[in-house]
Formats: sequence, structure tokens, C-alpha cells
Amino acid sequence: MYKKPGYPKLVIDLNKLRNNIERVQSMCADRGVEIAGVIKGCSGLIPCAQQFERAGCSYIASSRLEQLQPLRENGIQAPLMMVRVPMLSEAADVVRICDYSLNSEVSVLKELNVQARLQDREHNVILMADCGDLREGFWDKDEMVDAAEMVENDLRNLHLAGVGVNVGCYGSVLATPEKLQELVDIAERIEERIGRELEIISGGATSSLMRVMDGNLPERINMLRVGEGILLAYDLPNLYGYEMEDMYQDAFVLRAEVIEVKDKPSHPVGEIGFDAFGHRIEYEDRGIRRRALVGIGKCDYGDPSELLCREKGAEVLGASSDHTILDVQDVKRSLKVGDIIEFDVKYATIVYLTNSPNIEKVYI
Ligand SMILES: *Cc1c(COP(=O)(O)O)cnc(C)c1O
Repeated sequence: MYKKPGYPKLVIDLNKLRNNIERVQSMCADRGVEIAGVIKGCSGLIPCAQQFERAGCSYIASSRLEQLQPLRENGIQAPLMMVRVPMLSEAADVVRICDYSLNSEVSVLKELNVQARLQDREHNVILMADCGDLREGFWDKDEMVDAAEMVENDLRNLHLAGVGVNVGCYGSVLATPEKLQELVDIAERIEERIGRELEIISGGATSSLMRVMDGNLPERINMLRVGEGILLAYDLPNLYGYEMEDMYQDAFVLRAEVIEVKDKPSHPVGEIGFDAFGHRIEYEDRGIRRRALVGIGKCDYGDPSELLCREKGAEVLGASSDHTILDVQDVKRSLKVGDIIEFDVKYATIVYLTNSPNIEKVYI
């Protein structure tokens, strides 16, 4: 029987991950903001999800039911939250698996209610407002207030837990105080209509942490759904210049094995057409250079330009499905076949690697 070799390997430092969760969680707790720990960035790996609960996240969240479904049987007791607005066809499973879901369609809300009744449960819903990022959420806010009233008064097996917004993910819209205040205003319109306070006003994802750090998160926002800012903590420091003290950007490290080392021309030799993925590529001619291949490729991680090689002097030149090509001319140690090369990874790379059955996951 074929046994998977030890490489490529994703090394996951659970203590670093735990540290990151605790930092974000306590920073938010100081301002009365609860965290839904979003585990989709690491494809819901159970040992990672468990850290989110242990570090005190109030909810465990994912965009995919298949990641939420195994959590209970693995001992996680925190309420589970579905953060992608559900497919109509998965309503029964949403109710069965999750305690909370984010929603933007009346037909789905009605179906969730039917399924909750059949299962003799109450399911909590958070209605999403689209405040300009143009992904999910009610655009027409009158329609949203009407939907809230319907959930409150007519859908007996649903509980209207609150409202939420997502910004940044599609439209790159910033979570400014004004933008988040729009959500609070909608919440207050709904509260006026239904005659009670909403428990949850969920003001976005990692990008809203900037408001927590600046101390200008609108008062009534009391929950954020955070993934990237915990798993990697890359965007806020590296894109926005926010200092995130004592956060690790290397809770996830990729290790791959060298399968060829040779001196070769740096420019392909022959008539040039398209690469394996149908793209026209510009190749720089730098003469003869030492190159190394490692046994991992686009199938495993998506985009090679998102790999950050830890080997000083090495450069990722490109990749095909199963090979990654490095320029190692300027690497000090003399690399040979069988050596291991380490890479730091970005968010999308973590998503792909954790999702790939070809990647051995090792927890330290
Ligand atoms: C993915 C997602 C999040 C978490 O986003 P991060 O940027 O990783 O913090 C929060 N809310 C929704 C609706 C999402 O889809």
C-alpha cells in the first residue's frame, strides 16, 4: 500500500495560535466585544478549532457546514455559527448543526423556520446588512427591517439574535466608524420596530479590529467575527501599519522537500507558447543559475507568489501543479536533493494547504 511521505508538511504551532487568539480575544473583551472565532482559514482543522474555544471565543464560526459538523463530537461546546448565508438546500443541516446563522434572504429564513419546527428547535439568526461592500446582506434597509419584524413575530422557531455587516472581503470597503455606525442605526430602527433590544450587533471581521485598536468602534457593536487577524495577523500590520504586539505570523509554516538541484539557464530554451495553466509568462534571462525543485505545487497551495521562502537568498520563480521552482544561486548552504526548505505562508496559502489531503499536518 502506498503510504504518504512526510513531505510536504504543514507545521502548526498550537501555542502560537492559542496566543494569537488570546491576544485578540482579550483586547476585544476589554471593550465589551465578543469574538466569534472563524476557523475557515484553516479549513476547520479540529486541533485549531479547539484552541479557539480554549482561548475563550464566545462562538466558533465557519462558512462551511462540513467544518462545523464534526466540532461537537470533538468536544467543542461553544455555540456554532454559520457565517456564509445558507443555501436553501442546506437549511435543515444548518439548523441541525449550528446554533446561529447569518442571513439575508426571506425565503431562506422561512425554510430555516420550517426545518427548526420539524426538528423541534429554536435557531438563532443574525440579519446581514450590506453597507456597501456588495457581498451578502440586505441592500434595501426597509426590506431588512420588515424581515426582522417577520422573524420576530411570525417565524416562531427562529430567534432574531441581532444584525451584522461584512465589509472588506469583496468591495475592499474599510470598516470606518461611520460605516459601522450605519449598522448600529439599522439595529436601532429594528429595535424600535420590534420593541426590544437586539443581543448582537456584529460589526465585521478582522478589518474591524482596527476600530478596536483605535478605540473608535461604535459603542453598541458587541461582536466581531475574526479569522485572519488571529490565524496569521498579517493584514493589519503589513497592509495597514497597525502594531499587533506579541502576535505570531508563523503559527503555520510549510516544509517541502527538494527533489532536484541543477544549474540551468534562467530563460526557457525554445519557442515560447503558454504555461501549464494557459498563461503567457515573462521569463527573465539572468544566465545560468542554480535552481532547485521542491515537491509541492499549485494543486497544494494555489499561487506560488504567495510563498515566502525562509531560505536566505532563495527566490520562488514559479510552479506547475506539482512542482515549485526556486532560484537558489545565492543560497549559502549547498542545497541537495532530500533537503527540506521552509516557507512562511499567507492567508490564502493556509486555506489551500489545510484543505489539501496531500499535505501532512503536524501539530507542535
Ligand atoms: C470569512 C468571514 C469572516 C472572517 O473574516 P476574517 O477577515 O478572516 O477575519 C467574518 N465574517 C464573514 C461573514 C466571513 O465570511
